[in-house]
Amino acid sequence: MSGTTIEDNNIIWKNKMLVKLRENKEYWDLFTRKEEYAPLILDQYDRFPYYLSKNREILKPKVSEFLVKNGFYFEYPENKKFAVCLTHDVDVVNISNLSTIHKAVKSLTQLQIKSALKTLFSKINKKWNPLWNFRNIMDMEKKYDAKSSFYFLALNKDDVDFNFKIRELEHEIGYIVDNGWEVGLHGGHYAFSDLKTIKAEKRRLEDVLGKKVVGYRNHYLRFKVPDSWNILAEAGFKYDSTFGYADMVGFRNGMCHPYKPVDLRTNKQIDILEIPLVVMDVTLFDYMRLSVEVAWKVIKLLIDTTEKCNGVITILWHNTYMVGDKLKLYEKILEYCYEKNAWMTSGEEICKWWQLCKWWQL
Ligand SMILES: [Zn+2]
Repeated sequence: MSGTTIEDNNIIWKNKMLVKLRENKEYWDLFTRKEEYAPLILDQYDRFPYYLSKNREILKPKVSEFLVKNGFYFEYPENKKFAVCLTHDVDVVNISNLSTIHKAVKSLTQLQIKSALKTLFSKINKKWNPLWNFRNIMDMEKKYDAKSSFYFLALNKDDVDFNFKIRELEHEIGYIVDNGWEVGLHGGHYAFSDLKTIKAEKRRLEDVLGKKVVGYRNHYLRFKVPDSWNILAEAGFKYDSTFGYADMVGFRNGMCHPYKPVDLRTNKQIDILEIPLVVMDVTLFDYMRLSVEVAWKVIKLLIDTTEKCNGVITILWHNTYMVGDKLKLYEKILEYCYEKNAWMTSGEEICKWWQLCKWWQL
C-alpha cells in the first residue's frame, strides 16, 4: 500500500499545514487539484491542460503565499533565502536518427547537425555530438556553484521515442553521480499510468546506476492526479518533479514549495514528495511561443516571486536546448540566481533537505 496507513490517518489532520489549508476552500481545492479528478477533456497525451483550469492566476503561488502569511517559515542551508531545483530531461543523445532530429532537436542549427554527422559521429567521436553534453552542462553549473538532476529515459528498443540504450551511457552516468549531480528516471510515455512499466524502467536504470533511483519526471509531463503519485510511491520513488503544465509556466497547484500530495478519494497523504515544476524550456518556446527576451522576463518574474516566498523554483532545460540563445538564457538564469545567493541544486538534495525539516508534519 502506498500512502499512510489507516491507523495514522488521524495524524494527517493534525498536520498544521493541511489543517490550515482545509480552512480555506479555494486554496484547498487548488492545492489538491480537485478540478483534475473529473476533467471535461484531456489533450492528446492525456494531460490536463492549463487552458481548462479555473485558476487564471498561474503566475502567483497563491497557496504558498497563504501559508507564508499564516506564519509558515521555510529555511535552507547556509541561510540561503530560496532554492532553485535545476533539472534536465534527456530524451535524445544520438542524432544519427534523422527522424528524431526533426522532432526533438529543433534548437540545433543545420551547421551543428552537419558537423556532427560529418564525423559519422557520436558513437565514434563523442566530442562532435552536440547532445553528448552532460559534462559541459555540469562545468557551466559548477562555475555558479550549482548542481542539477539529469533524468534519463530508460526505454526498450520498441518503445515510442526510443533513441538510446541506457547502457550506452554507463560512463556518463557514473561521471555525473561521482561528481555529486543526480541521475533520476525520465519515465517513458506510458509509465505515468502503469506500475509495471514504471518499475521495469526504474530497474533498467538502476542496473546501470548501481544504486536506487529516487527522483522522477515523466516524458511529455504526462501525469494523472492522483494516480501517478500513488504509482510513484508504490514503485519506491522519493520524489517527483513532473507537476507543471506543458502549455504554461507557473505554479500548477499554487505551491512554490515541495509538498506531499493528498489523495481526495482516500483523504490520505501520499508518501511521495512533489517538487513542482515551474519552468520548462519547451513551454516557453514551443507552447507559449515567446522570444528569448520575453521568456527571460517571465523567468525573472517567477524567480523573484519564489524568492519572496522563500520557495523552490524548478527549472527544466533539455540537453537539446543547450545551444545558441537558449544556452545563453540558461546561463543567465544561473548567473541571476547566483547573484541572489540562491541554493541551486538537484532534486535529490532538495528532497533530502525537506525530509530533514519535516515541516509538513509540524
Ligand atoms: Zn522527455
